[in-house]
This record gives sequence, structure tokens and C-alpha cells, in this order.
Amino acid sequence: MTDRLVEANRHYAEAFTDPGMDARPVLHVAVVACMDARLDLHKALGLQLGDCHTIRNAGGVVTDDVIRSLTISQRKLGTRSIVLIHHTGCGLESLTEDFRNELEMEVGQRPAWAVESFRDVDQDVRQSMQRVRTSPFLLYKDDVRGFVFDVRTGLLREVDPA
Ligand SMILES: [Zn+2]
Repeated sequence: MTDRLVEANRHYAEAFTDPGMDARPVLHVAVVACMDARLDLHKALGLQLGDCHTIRNAGGVVTDDVIRSLTISQRKLGTRSIVLIHHTGCGLESLTEDFRNELEMEVGQRPAWAVESFRDVDQDVRQSMQRVRTSPFLLYKDDVRGFVFDVRTGLLREVDPA
């Protein structure tokens, strides 16, 4: 399967010209989103090459590693706004923290990370917003907005931060 991707890259590179861009995102935005395959962030948000940072993981959860990326994004690469995107039908809704026990049983070692499973997607977005707002490492926390992407309609719905 990877060979197919590498082949596609050859075609991509044939038509590629050096955009001569700075690494600093043009829109000064960092987007944190779930890794879900149904969410095409650039298309869904009208983003172009160079516009923003995209930070993705299972759930679009604000973990320590996301804070690491956001800190570098803000302090070294000039972003000032944060957009958090979770979505309907997320795989984390069908998991529980029990997954860690299953792993421990199978491989004999308990992962240090939390599964970050959830039942209420709005509440999970609020928790992520809260983690951003309480981080001592981030410089800009005034423009932090959270959304739920509907995988059936393609629409974003904003989550009230309260
Ligand atoms: Zn998801």
C-alpha cells in the first residue's frame, strides 16, 4: 500500500514548483483535529498550502504532545489562533479506559498515556479548550474556538465554551 503513495508522490513532484514560502503559517492559525480519515481539513476549511499548522491525533485531544506542538507553533512560528475540531462518530466514543487494561494483559506493559475516550463530544471539546487555556506554555489563548465536524453533512458546529 505504501508503494502506491510513493508512486503518487512521483506524479506530485513532477508538477511541483518551489512555492518559496516561509514556514510561518500565513493565517497564523493552528488547527488541532482528530485523525479520522473522513475529515479532509484543508478542503473542509478552505485552507491552502502554507495557511496553517495541522496537529492531529486520535480524537483531536489536547494531550501533552499537542501542547508541545502548539507551544512551538505560537512561540517559534507565530500562530495566534487555535481551532479545535472533534467530530461525530469518533472511534474514541466506543472505547473506554479499559483499553489500557487490555493492552497490559496482551503485552505485559501498561501504556503511560490515557486512552482519552469520551461519551459526550461537546464536553470533550470543552475539556480540550480548557487544557489549552490552562497551559502555562502558550502565549495566545484569547482566540481558542472548538467545533464538532459532522461526518455526514460536512458542516462544523461551534461548541459553546462554557
Ligand atoms: Zn475521531
